[in-house]
Amino acid sequence: MKNQLKNIKVSLSAIIIGIVLAGCGGGADVDTAPAVADDGVRQIRITGNDAMQFNITEIRAEPGEELRIALTNIGRMPKQHMGHNWVLFKALSDSELNTLAMDAAGRGPEHLPADMSAVLAHTRMLGPAESDQITITAPQEPGEYPFACTFPGHFALMRGKLIVE
Ligand code: ZN
Repeated sequence: MKNQLKNIKVSLSAIIIGIVLAGCGGGADVDTAPAVADDGVRQIRITGNDAMQFNITEIRAEPGEELRIALTNIGRMPKQHMGHNWVLFKALSDSELNTLAMDAAGRGPEHLPADMSAVLAHTRMLGPAESDQITITAPQEPGEYPFACTFPGHFALMRGKLIVE
């Protein structure tokens, strides 16, 4: 009985330490340099913050290259006010992209467009301190593929491009 109690105490303090560490992180130590995961897939670490900014607005890849997109919301504002996702689109024109993003913004909680045919890949919509990872394959055709956060009002600021070359 005593031992069990001790175990509970130990795991509780581990949880508390975990929370404190997560709270202190604040994103300052997020490494933005590309890294290679154990399985050889190049990892792109992307953060979104409370100022509606991605840390990365340009990703370069080779045709057909596998990439692991690791998105973290490093903000503190509640998800319903400041959610972030990462959505990769086909090589659309600006006006096509605008139309799709507007449509997506109106569709909670994930804010994805009704017609997903122009969406190549997407993460989940993330609240503060949440992360999501997806593995994508860069298109075979060289070109510029826009990505954005489709949370309402974020598209204008939170966007960038995957350059396949
Ligand atoms: Zn966002």
